[in-house]
Amino acid sequence: MKYLTILGSTGSIGASTLDVVARHPQRFRVLALTARSQVDLLYRQCCSFEPRYAVLLDEAAAGGLQSRLRAAGIGTEVLSGTAALEKVAALAETDIVVAAIVGIAGLRATLSAARSGKKILLANKESLVTAGALFMSAVQASGAELLPIDSEHNAIFQSLPPAGGGSLADRGVRRILLTASGGPFRTLAPARLAAVTPEEAVAHPNWVMGRKISVDSATMMNKGLEVIEAHWLFSAAPEVIEVVIHPQSVVHSLVEYCDGSVIAQLGNPDMRTPIAHALGHPQRIASGADFLDLARVGNLSFEAPDLARFPCLRLAYDALRAGDSAVVALNAANEVAVAEFLERRIAYTEIPALIDKVVAGTPARAVNSVEDVERIDAEARAEAFAACAGRGIGRSVHAG
Ligand code: NAD
Ligand code: MG
Repeated sequence: MKYLTILGSTGSIGASTLDVVARHPQRFRVLALTARSQVDLLYRQCCSFEPRYAVLLDEAAAGGLQSRLRAAGIGTEVLSGTAALEKVAALAETDIVVAAIVGIAGLRATLSAARSGKKILLANKESLVTAGALFMSAVQASGAELLPIDSEHNAIFQSLPPAGGGSLADRGVRRILLTASGGPFRTLAPARLAAVTPEEAVAHPNWVMGRKISVDSATMMNKGLEVIEAHWLFSAAPEVIEVVIHPQSVVHSLVEYCDGSVIAQLGNPDMRTPIAHALGHPQRIASGADFLDLARVGNLSFEAPDLARFPCLRLAYDALRAGDSAVVALNAANEVAVAEFLERRIAYTEIPALIDKVVAGTPARAVNSVEDVERIDAEARAEAFAACAGRGIGRSVHAG
C-alpha cells in the first residue's frame, strides 16, 4: 500500500489524481488533501477518501470544515496555513506527494517533499521553474524520486533511454521536442487578439484545466515555462529543447536521437494517463482514459510556432538564457499579468508587454535560497502592479 499527500487536491490535476486513485483501492491510500479555499469540494473529498489530514489556508475556514467533518463522523484532522502544507508534504508515512498547487504558491510545500525524499509527482511547474537549482539539489541530496506528470515531460520521460549516467548527448539524444497545441488563438486574425476575453482564452480546444494554465496555454507562456521545466528535469541546454505546434494534442512530446530515430509518446489528451504512469511507475496501471483510436483521429499535423503571435515563448527562452533572477521575474510577472487579464484589468496583448517590462527591469542576481526566490518574486510582482497602474490600466477592458 502506498500513502499519498495531494497538494492542491481540489484543482483539475488534484481531481484527476483522485479519479485514478479511486480505481486502485488496493494500491493507494490518501493520507492528506489540501486546498486554498474550496471548502465544499474538500469536504466531499474528505468524505470519500477519509484522509488523516486536510489543509485549508484560512484558519476560520479550517475550523468550519473540522466541525462539518466531525458531525459527519469523519476522523480527518483539519490543519491550516502554509506551514501545514509543508508538514503534510513531509509526513513520515507519506510515500508519494502529488504537487498540484498552481503557481509559486506551491514552492515551499513541493520543496518540503523534495527535502524529505518522497516520490514526487510534479505538476506544479512554477516551483521547478523558479527554484530549479535548489529543487534539483534537494532531490539529489534526499534521494527523492521526481516524476513529471505535465503531459509533455511525462512523454519525454517515457521516450528517453533508461536512466543512467552521462549527459543527454552521451546517451545519444540530439533534441527534445515539446509539442504545443497552439491554444484557442492559433489561427485567430492578429488584429482581433487585443479584444479576446478571459472566457475565450480559457476555452482550450483539447484540455480542461485550471484557469491560470489555460491562459498560459493561449499565450504559449505555458510552453515557455515547460521549456524551463524540461531544462531542469532532463539537464537539457536551451538549444536542444524545441517547440513544435501540434493542434491535435495526441503526440505528447518526442525525443530525437543521433541516429535519426524519433521516439514519441501518444495518447488521448487526458491527464489521467501521465498521472497513472507516474503513480504506478515502474509498473503500468489503468487510468480510466479512453484508448487512442488513430483511425478516428485521422490526421496528425505539425507546424513551427509563430513567435510574433506568441511572444511569451521567446520571452521564456530569453529568461532561461539570462539566468535565475530573470526566470523568477518572468514567472512572477506572468502570474500577475494572467490574474489581471482574468479580472479584465489588462488586455490579452498586454500580457507579454508587461512581462517584458518587468524582466528587463530586474537586475541579475544570484538565487541561492528560497528566501532569494521569494524576494525577487515579491519585487517583480510589485513592479508588475506598478506597471499596470502606470499605464493607466485598472479600468475594465472588456464588457461582460
Ligand atoms: P487549478 O487552479 O485547477 O487547481 C489549483 C489547486 O491549487 C487547487 O486545489 C487550489 O485550491 C490550490 N491552490 C491555489 N492557490 C493556492 C495557494 N495560494 N495556496 C495553496 N493552495 C493553492 O490548477 P490545475 O490546472 O490543477 O494546475 C495545477 C498545476 O498543475 C499548475 O502548476 C499547472 O501548471 C500544472 N499542470 C496542470 C495541468 C492540467 O491539465 N490542469 C497539466 C499540466 C500541468
Ligand atoms: Mg503541459
